Amino acid sequence: RIAPPDSQADGYLQLSGIRKSFGSFTALENIELSIRRGEFVCFLGPSGCGKTTLLRIVAGLETQTAGRIVQAGRDISVEPPAGRDYGIMFQSYALFPNLTVAQNVAYGLVNRKRPRAEIAARVEELLKLVGLPGSGVKYPAQLSGGQQQRIALARALATSPGLLLLDEPLSALDAIVRVHLRNEIRALQRELGVTTIMVTHDQEEALSVADRIVVMNHGVIEQVGTPLEVYREPASPFVADFVGKVNRLSAVAEGDHWFRCGDKRLRCPPAGGADFRPGREVALYLRPEDRVIGPLREDDPMRCSGTVRHIEFLGGNCLAEVDVDGLPGQPVQLQYSLNQMDEFGVAEGAAVSFALRADRLRVFPV
Ligand code: ATP
Repeated sequence: RIAPPDSQADGYLQLSGIRKSFGSFTALENIELSIRRGEFVCFLGPSGCGKTTLLRIVAGLETQTAGRIVQAGRDISVEPPAGRDYGIMFQSYALFPNLTVAQNVAYGLVNRKRPRAEIAARVEELLKLVGLPGSGVKYPAQLSGGQQQRIALARALATSPGLLLLDEPLSALDAIVRVHLRNEIRALQRELGVTTIMVTHDQEEALSVADRIVVMNHGVIEQVGTPLEVYREPASPFVADFVGKVNRLSAVAEGDHWFRCGDKRLRCPPAGGADFRPGREVALYLRPEDRVIGPLREDDPMRCSGTVRHIEFLGGNCLAEVDVDGLPGQPVQLQYSLNQMDEFGVAEGAAVSFALRADRLRVFPV
């Protein structure tokens, strides 16, 4: 029998039954997660969902109230931080300001009492790796924010840890540096093959770098999946709303996967969610890009017409907010490329026809 990819046997890092309480407040509940060797995993969620607390528990900087952590087959549940095998990088200001760049990077190696010549060679190798060769004699204050984070990364990687923990490492940087550095971190992670967990509240960041995303909300895991799975097949309304833009339509089930939505009858694919008994109120979720591309079929039950109320430009794309005929009070956002806008005459006040992609609708109970 071939083991499923998420089986315990495959996990490099396994978290089982993790719970964390601060007094009477439960910050994490029943966390079950298995991370494969070499994987890049993002903990994603809104402020206060518990993602930082979970990372700190993995690092031993916070003690779980209950649960077990196994890394590379070793139970580290009660191991102090120094006995664990990881490097960590924080949001900012984490370098020692009174030490040179080289001394900062060497920190973990000095603690491990490595020979001096070996440390010097390793530090230069790491500085080269993060694109700052020869900067060892500088002090952190002489570097930009992005450069300081590269040094922090070099320091986290110095001892060649089995696990790299990144706690919102990019959130203090400006947008351009942030995108640049996240791509570099990702490339470096691939090259080194180091199992990595990054905490972020930025869904775009998580979608762009992660092998798998752990979406968290109120101390529980809502979904674990690849970026595409989380985006295309959100497991809950929370995930659908939090990751990417989405339209939410109120509807009533009619049975056999048909739903009445305003004056329209829509049929959702059986895979889009469980069927609901007739009369049940549900919400249909659909991404703005999930409209049919190409000729519209006359008999398509998902065919709609409407009037463009508002257009939001997003560079090469726009989001058109459309008042849909027969769907009063439920405007739908549709994505068009600029070329498609010209082709279909999409402009504020213009009439448009389109068909929603039934195969992409997701249905959730309300
Ligand atoms: P953020 O992005 O804002 O850091 P987060 O998802 O990382 O959010 P955590 O920092 O893990 O969230 O915090 C989760 C919850 O636990 C929050 O409600 C927070 O107030 C609470 N919490 C965290 N640390 C402590 C503590 N030491 N004492 C009491 N409550 C805490």
